[in-house]
Amino acid sequence: MNVHNQTNAIRSYPIFFLSLIITYIALIKISLYFTTMSEGLSIVWFPNGLLLAVFLLRPIREWIWIVLAIIPAEIIADIPMLTSLQTLQFILINLGETLFSAYLLRRLCPNDDSFNNIRFTLLFIVIALAINPSVSAFFTTLIYNTQIESQTNFIAFWRISFFGDSLGILFLTPLIILWAEYPKKFLFTQHLFESILTDTLAILLAIALFSIEFTPSVLPTTPMIFILMTLWIVYRNGLRSGMDIGMIISMIAIYYTIRHQGPFAIFDSVQNTLYIQEFIAALMTSTLFFGAFLRQMNETNALLLQSNAALESLAQNLENEVLNKTAELQKANDLLMELATTDPLTHIYNRRYLEENVVREIAQSIRHESPLSLIIFDIDFFKSINDTYGHQNGDNVLIYISQSVKTRIRKDDIFARIGGEEFVILMPNTSVEHAVILAASIKESIALLVIPTKNGSISCTVSMGVSEFSTQFDGFSEFLNDADMKLYRAKESGRNKIIWE
Ligand code: GH3
Ligand code: MG
Ligand code: MG
Repeated sequence: MNVHNQTNAIRSYPIFFLSLIITYIALIKISLYFTTMSEGLSIVWFPNGLLLAVFLLRPIREWIWIVLAIIPAEIIADIPMLTSLQTLQFILINLGETLFSAYLLRRLCPNDDSFNNIRFTLLFIVIALAINPSVSAFFTTLIYNTQIESQTNFIAFWRISFFGDSLGILFLTPLIILWAEYPKKFLFTQHLFESILTDTLAILLAIALFSIEFTPSVLPTTPMIFILMTLWIVYRNGLRSGMDIGMIISMIAIYYTIRHQGPFAIFDSVQNTLYIQEFIAALMTSTLFFGAFLRQMNETNALLLQSNAALESLAQNLENEVLNKTAELQKANDLLMELATTDPLTHIYNRRYLEENVVREIAQSIRHESPLSLIIFDIDFFKSINDTYGHQNGDNVLIYISQSVKTRIRKDDIFARIGGEEFVILMPNTSVEHAVILAASIKESIALLVIPTKNGSISCTVSMGVSEFSTQFDGFSEFLNDADMKLYRAKESGRNKIIWE
């Protein structure tokens, strides 16, 4: 249980045990003088509530010290009233029942978070109301039957010890544990003004209702209204505030009932005691259970929200990762596409790209009856450029020429290097006449290029073949072939020429 850790802060053991002894004695006196009817019936027996709380709060290894502290406390408290045999019996009964209850709760709920947990709380209520008084009655019967000649049976003792002990535990044990949990939290918390209002109202109403003098002819006002008020306070301000106010209401009820005032003072003393005990049991049980229920619900909700947030961020991370990977893939894909369709030396399109796209251009030209022209050109005497300036400078010439042509063509034109020093320009929406004009300007600009090398600069010319697509061609190869033939003729007729007819 969590509560251990919080109370482990108790540093000084002598002070702890001394205050335990004093509180225990004080609670015996309070139970005797403030909760006992004039006929000697005790409405609430508090000391055992303290004992059980201390057993639950402290680790089992300290239980022996608690037992050793309680023995003198019980002796001191009992000396003026009881015989030493009776004192011994009380020591046995009080320690016996609380130790057994504490052990049972520890065993059954080793990991449950005390009154934040419905299971623990329900077991606590069952132990307080049924098991604890049974154990008490068992010890009492044992003692009376063995040591004193008496015929009083278990059931009789059970009835005597039932409500007094049960209420003390129902009352005080949760209060002590809850106060140990948050020592600084006071009566008025979450909704300050509302809680001041409801608490004050509850207290005033309790004083008013329990102090009324009832006569048997007047129907008593039901104190059950306090259960509703306490539940409301639990709902708004939490279990601690509910238990605090429940205790105050119960003490007010006890205060007036033992003075024969209020709704519980209309029958004989035994009946009155039973009625007020039932009322307090109902008040405390409902408060405790509802409070624990809300606490567990809130805790579960908080956990759910937490795991939901974790899941959301996980999903977000996953999404980001997918986005990143997709972008990376897209980049890799783009690079691959570029590698597959461009010429690594000149960075213009390669033959493959031209062949893949020319089919579409031909189809469009036929469909729209628009002209489609093609220029093929080959550098003149390139072999001798290579021979004179070296292969590297030859490469450079290819790059210069490509750059120069690139600036002269349109966006829709496809410019590709289809062989070593052979280039093609495919021009949609262009008649042969316009293609020739472009070819001439390209040829001129190439002739004007001056490509620097370490051994002087290079100038070169190109020969060109120009062809316009006609439906007589059977596909691209015939179209290209037509232009190639013209290029061949341009070479034949002395180079640095354009042939288009
Ligand atoms: P012609 O005027 O008849 O075209 O004469 P040419 O010397 O240019 O003859 P041809 O077109 O047959 O020669 C192609 C030469 O281009 C052969 C080869 O050494 C050279 N070549 C082909 N590809 C490359 C290349 O990528 N880089 C370089 N530097 N040279 C290349
Ligand atoms: Mg060639
Ligand atoms: Mg050549």
